[in-house]
Amino acid sequence: MNSRKRVVVFRELPPDQLARLQAEHEVVVANPRVPAEHGAFLAALPTAQGLIGSSFPIDDAMLAMAPQLEVVSSVSVGVDNYDLAAFKRRGVMLCNTPGVLTETTADTIFSLVMAASRRIVELALLVREGRWTQNIGESLFGWDVHGKTLGIVGFGRIGQAVARRGALGFGMPVLYSSRSRVEVPDLAVHVRRVEFEELLPQADIVVLTLPLTELTRGLMGASQFAAMKAGAIFINGARGAIVQEDALLAALDSGHLRAAGLDVFATEPLPPDSPLRNHPRVTATPHIGSATHETRKAMAQLATSNLLEALAGKRPAATVT
Ligand code: NAP
Repeated sequence: MNSRKRVVVFRELPPDQLARLQAEHEVVVANPRVPAEHGAFLAALPTAQGLIGSSFPIDDAMLAMAPQLEVVSSVSVGVDNYDLAAFKRRGVMLCNTPGVLTETTADTIFSLVMAASRRIVELALLVREGRWTQNIGESLFGWDVHGKTLGIVGFGRIGQAVARRGALGFGMPVLYSSRSRVEVPDLAVHVRRVEFEELLPQADIVVLTLPLTELTRGLMGASQFAAMKAGAIFINGARGAIVQEDALLAALDSGHLRAAGLDVFATEPLPPDSPLRNHPRVTATPHIGSATHETRKAMAQLATSNLLEALAGKRPAATVT
């Protein structure tokens, strides 16, 4: 019996992982975000049994176009691009890549904490552009990170890894909010769980590390920014749509917030006319949370293993639906 199935790779995979798929299945590579490949992606859906990729929304209408689909393997930990209810209803398995990107994403988030507080990008540009012509004065001083109170919203794998950096590396007291209480023995004396509404006025630096869901969409709006401490710093390492960007800009422009560090945006790539692109107190990075050679390789490997296992009738450990 021919057990080869049809797999659509909807975002580039490293050659070694593509070869693993091709050894067992018929593979079509078609990235729907590339206009020239969009048609091939749609044409491959009706016979596809497996999809692997990321950064592309898969909703109920798209699942309806793929009646033979058994599994979608996402090369990401976030699953906000997928209509989870439709996946469940249609019996399509969704796998993701938790764990392998935790430390790298926490590194990225902490680099935004450092860059926003110490004005690293702004001051590095001063040097690069030949504007460093005299000693730096008070108007360009930064803000200490060590010893500040770190507030982490969403205390899962990445939130805890950020807390570890702050508490153990920088002597920061850590407050966190999440719906459930989390026991983390090595952090127990350093962290305290508070309600979200209590965290905002107490933290010097607020960091988002929670998923985008219908409950968290737009969570940070005008009243939440107003509730933050005057002169505080805001960091988003989770998903752009958790933040009402107009409200963030207003809080920065009024001087209420000192600065923001953002890796994620409501629309990505950031549109050319977005005021976040060149705002003097925004450090923006192009969604690079997990973007290191080592981690992207590990994510591709795990996602490929998930897909192969699922197509072989198994249930991988990293299964969401
Ligand atoms: P995780 O281990 O599942 O942690 C998520 C945490 O958020 C949990 O503590 C969860 O606890 C909490 N949470 C969920 N809904 C909440 C709500 N409504 N209010 C408050 N807390 C809530 O996930 P992770 O691996 O740390 O990843 C977290 C997110 O980071 C991902 O979903 C992804 O969107 C984002 N991410 C971004 C990048 C990047 O490139 N910037 C890279 C990787 C991941 P409770 O359920 O108890 O509330």
